[in-house]
Amino acid sequence: MPRVALVTGGMGGLGEAICVKLAALGYTVVTTYSPSNTRAQDWLRNMNDMGYGFKAYPCDVGDFDSCKNCVEQIAKDIGPVEVLVNNAGITRDMTFKKMTKADWDVVVRTNLDSVFNMTKQVMDGMVERNWGRVINISSVNGQKGAFGQTNYAAAKAGMHGFTKSLALEVAKKGVTINTISPGYIGTKMVTAIPQDVLESKILPQIPTGRLGKPEEVAGLVAYLTSEEAAFVNGANISINGGQHMF
Ligand code: NDP
Repeated sequence: MPRVALVTGGMGGLGEAICVKLAALGYTVVTTYSPSNTRAQDWLRNMNDMGYGFKAYPCDVGDFDSCKNCVEQIAKDIGPVEVLVNNAGITRDMTFKKMTKADWDVVVRTNLDSVFNMTKQVMDGMVERNWGRVINISSVNGQKGAFGQTNYAAAKAGMHGFTKSLALEVAKKGVTINTISPGYIGTKMVTAIPQDVLESKILPQIPTGRLGKPEEVAGLVAYLTSEEAAFVNGANISINGGQHMF
């Protein structure tokens, strides 16, 4: 039986590339979408018309019970989740002076609470089966901080503390948990930035001289799911064109 890989936010720019890559490797790929996403069924139909065979479930990743119900339903319909990619995320950028409690809460809930909410549903099963892969999609801005992103950078940095701590608890059980910290990747989260700002402010920070491609991040996710990556645990892997090195 192919292993089940669950990718949260798989209908977004990075998530879709990750779903496509994992499907090519033979995983049964399941994704989540926000309950308010009215385009979800169109996306699913389009992708499955291309032969991917994706499954999709509504889930608010910031809500514990929604994650619980979603993973229970996947287990009933398809099987236990053996690969979890915590990819769903949002930004609400503004200076700290302007940031409200609601702006803080929604970002921390979607980017960080989601990692607890989803991982909690799958970890016991992974440990029992002595095999599992959890991959958390963080950000370069969680490593270095970013102007106007106190909420996002804090949530993304928090993912790595979670990753390192849980890796210590489950490494002996054949489970790996790692973080990927992408730099600027050419998805709508980034291409929505005005072209002149991209060219004058962002590209000059990237030694490679271009935005990353979603497929490049997906390739790293694929590696982390592999048997060859069994010794990579608790890592935070940068993929940023050389923008931030340490
Ligand atoms: P997108 O905005 O394209 O996709 C984000 C996805 O998250 C969407 O599929 C969205 O689903 C989902 N999502 C948001 N809120 C919720 C929620 N409450 N419950 C369930 N799903 C939700 O962004 P990207 O693909 O660019 O980003 C993917 C990840 O990569 C994010 O975590 C982001 O922070 C991170 N990242 C991206 C970088 C980039 O340059 N693009 C750089 C570094 C990190 P729906 O549409 O159904 O709401």
